[in-house]
Amino acid sequence: MRIGHGLDAHRFTPGRPLVLGGVRIPHTEGLEAHSDGDVVIHALCDALLGAAGLGDIGRHFPDDDPAYAGIDSRVLLRRVKVQLDEHRFAIASVDLTVVAQAPRLAPHIEAMRQRLAADLDLAPPRLNLKATTTEGMGFTGRGEGIAAFAVVLLDE
Ligand code: MG
Repeated sequence: MRIGHGLDAHRFTPGRPLVLGGVRIPHTEGLEAHSDGDVVIHALCDALLGAAGLGDIGRHFPDDDPAYAGIDSRVLLRRVKVQLDEHRFAIASVDLTVVAQAPRLAPHIEAMRQRLAADLDLAPPRLNLKATTTEGMGFTGRGEGIAAFAVVLLDE
């Protein structure tokens, strides 16, 4: 088995849609990024690539490459899955944590889970997603941005 960890954070910026875990979530601001700013998927891609020993998301999809401007991060996730398949890795489990003071994410957790599991061709019980606040502390607590953590286990 191979374990992988991923972390991502993006700052809020006005005038953009908020997309987390492949789901568009109603909010007053979105996340600043070269792509759609989906921190959950970025952390997940890094964990998957890390477990497979394949580097990181920045190496595979450089953020100065115009090909990835505004790209739907689900496209990146599916490309990472293809690479895992090519290297004959199977995903055993995924655990994701989103850190955000606002908006409230509980109503969207199941939709995100279904979408991410579908992109990874994974049975939904193998993919867990949860959200937490930091009780007002730190950059997420002050509402400056959102962070996400991912841990994955691969079978080889
Ligand atoms: Mg990112």
